[in-house]
Amino acid sequence: MKIAIYPGSFDPITSGHLNIIKRAADIFDKLIVCVMVNSTKSPMFSREERVDLIRRSIGELSNVEVDSSDGLLADYARRKGSCVIVKGLRAGSDFENEFQMALINHKINPDLDTMFLTAEHQYTYLSSSTVKELGNYDVDLSDFLPEPIIPIFKQRIADIRKKGENKK
Ligand code: ADP
Repeated sequence: MKIAIYPGSFDPITSGHLNIIKRAADIFDKLIVCVMVNSTKSPMFSREERVDLIRRSIGELSNVEVDSSDGLLADYARRKGSCVIVKGLRAGSDFENEFQMALINHKINPDLDTMFLTAEHQYTYLSSSTVKELGNYDVDLSDFLPEPIIPIFKQRIADIRKKGENKK
């Protein structure tokens, strides 16, 4: 059985991520979407919330599993019996970093390869940070976020704003 892992911060999952998930799920027998926890970043959504938002977004994709990890990706893949990491490539700017990470992961775990899927053109400009920025304005988010998570995202933005106002 070919198992692939799609790692990322997913803070929150966007329509661009979801597009990669659907395409990778068509290629592999099983896809594990893994929220990678980086303690140096302060995310908008907790680890558990990010996992929940992905689960709500993928709906009925029966060969997709959602998990999280704060360890080394190469070790995680070995534990899960996976030999492929899936990454989405948006632009040249993604390539430099991703290429370096792919080589490092392969060095740590020689059984592990990285496969790149090019972003769909309508999502090449889309990132979680862009969406967080847009959340501050009255913009229709339906092209950017999976429909089931839009109300949750908007609520979080409102909560953050309220907290900021109370501090003033
Ligand atoms: P970001 O915070 O930059 O949105 P993540 O760390 O959550 O990204 O991204 C996880 C993976 O998904 C990375 O391989 C990244 O290149 C890819 N990715 C992110 N956004 C998109 C998109 N809009 N289209 C395709 N791939 C994407």
